[in-house]
Amino acid sequence: MKEKMESKIESKIESEVKLELKSEIELKSEIEKTKINKQKINKREKRKWYTYLWIWSIVYFALGFFNILFAWLGMIDFLIPLVFAIFSGNKNFCNRYCGRGQLFRKLGNDCKCSRGKKAPGWISSKGFRYGFLAFFMTMFGNMIYQTYLVAAGATGLREAIKLFWTIRVPWGWTYTSGMTPDWIAQFSFGLYSLMLTSTLIGLVVMVLYRPRTWCSFCPMGTMTQGICRIKDSR
Ligand code: SF4
Repeated sequence: MKEKMESKIESKIESEVKLELKSEIELKSEIEKTKINKQKINKREKRKWYTYLWIWSIVYFALGFFNILFAWLGMIDFLIPLVFAIFSGNKNFCNRYCGRGQLFRKLGNDCKCSRGKKAPGWISSKGFRYGFLAFFMTMFGNMIYQTYLVAAGATGLREAIKLFWTIRVPWGWTYTSGMTPDWIAQFSFGLYSLMLTSTLIGLVVMVLYRPRTWCSFCPMGTMTQGICRIKDSR
C-alpha cells in the first residue's frame, strides 16, 4: 500500500516537472518569436522613406553654403513639429521625421562617433531644458528684431553668420546684393546661424555622451512636449 502511494506521488511530481519544463520551453519560444517579429518590424521601419531624412539635414547646410536664401527652408523644422503637437497632440515629428535627430543617431551609432556615455543629469533636468528654451527663444526674437531693423532701414544688411551667438563669420559669397529685399537675406543669415549653432552643440554632446543627447534639451522637443502635455491634461 505504502509503495503504491509513493509511486503515485513520484509520478505526480514527475508530471508536474514535465509540465513546468514544457511551459518554460513554450515561454522561451514565445520570447524568441517576439524578438524575430521586432527585428522584422525594425527592418521594415528602416526601409521607410522618412528614415532617410538625415540626408536633408546635410543638404540644408550644403545649400546654405552656396546660397543663403535656402536658409528659409529651416522654417520647416520649426513649424512642422509645432503642427504635429498642436493638431495631433503627439511627438511623431521627433519619433519619425526629424532629420537632425536621425543625423545624430546615424553619426553616433552607425559611424561610432559617440562615446555613448550617460549625460550628466542636469542636462535633462526641467530647469535646464526650460532655461535653454527661454534662451533660445530670446535669440530667435533677437533675430526677428534684427530683420525688422534692416527692413525699416535702421541698420544695413550684415552678410555674416554668428556662431554660438558670438563669433561672427563672414558669409558674403552666399548672397548677391539686390537679389531680394535686404530683410529677407538678413533673416536667412540669422536663421542659418541659429540652425548651424544648434547642430554644432548637438554634435558636441553627441560625441561626449549618447548620440541623441541634444534631444534631451532641444528647444523644439521641449516645446512640443509641453504642448502635448497641455493637450493631454484637457
Ligand atoms: S528633440 Fe529636437 S532634434 Fe530631437 S528629434 Fe525632436 S525636434 Fe529633432
